[in-house]
Amino acid sequence: MPVLSLQNISKRYGAVQALTNVSFDVPAGCVFGVLGPNGSGKTTLLGIVTDVLKADQGDFTLLDQPASARQRQQIGTLLETPNFYHYLSGYQNLKIAATIKQRGADDIERVLKIAGLTARQHSKFKTYSLGMKQRLAIASALLGDPQVLILDEPTNGLDPEGIAEVRALIRQVAQSGKTIIMASHLLDEVEKVCTHVAILRKGNLLLSGPVSEVISRNDFVEIGSRNNQ
Ligand code: ATP
Repeated sequence: MPVLSLQNISKRYGAVQALTNVSFDVPAGCVFGVLGPNGSGKTTLLGIVTDVLKADQGDFTLLDQPASARQRQQIGTLLETPNFYHYLSGYQNLKIAATIKQRGADDIERVLKIAGLTARQHSKFKTYSLGMKQRLAIASALLGDPQVLILDEPTNGLDPEGIAEVRALIRQVAQSGKTIIMASHLLDEVEKVCTHVAILRKGNLLLSGPVSEVISRNDFVEIGSRNNQ
């Protein structure tokens, strides 16, 4: 049973057709990359599957549930940079997020450990490196121990060290059994991190499937931008 199954999703903003009849399945336990250049519809797609946006047409099931029954606590999301307080510690920032999600200290400790931030949990957020800040954001998305983690371009704006840290964290979280769905405009990133991919161009699905199969297609190399970070 796929974790996410999209059927003919379409979305238009005024004159802009952001997505056209997009259908694909995300198998359980995979790291699924939604790959495409800027403006291809990645953020719109993730917005729809997290119920932030409504599709004009089509439907989808997430964790086998239609929209009305969807249990948001089983989904962790990082769609934009969270507003962390610079003068509070990593722990205090997570405490605020945990309070909103009604999670306790044990859950904060758990996600700090996963993100490799236990030793620095009491340092002020403003002293964190870019990679640490993003790892804290992913830790926050992991509060509540969701089955599925949805990330929009999680390495965007990071330095090379931060990119490596965040990619390693994503692989580690996937190894713990969670399904990860992440947008990326970098072919290299998808090759390095993802097991499966859906390729969008101008709101249309070009290809989807295991990276090892899709990658051997000749047209694949034209689609994403390569960046050797
Ligand atoms: P990026 O990497 O730049 O975020 P993307 O692949 O995530 O790109 P979207 O942000 O989903 O793509 O945008 C798809 C198309 O829809 C683009 O042409 C974009 O300009 C347009 N679009 C997105 N949001 C809106 C909006 N709120 N109003 C009007 N047009 C929008």
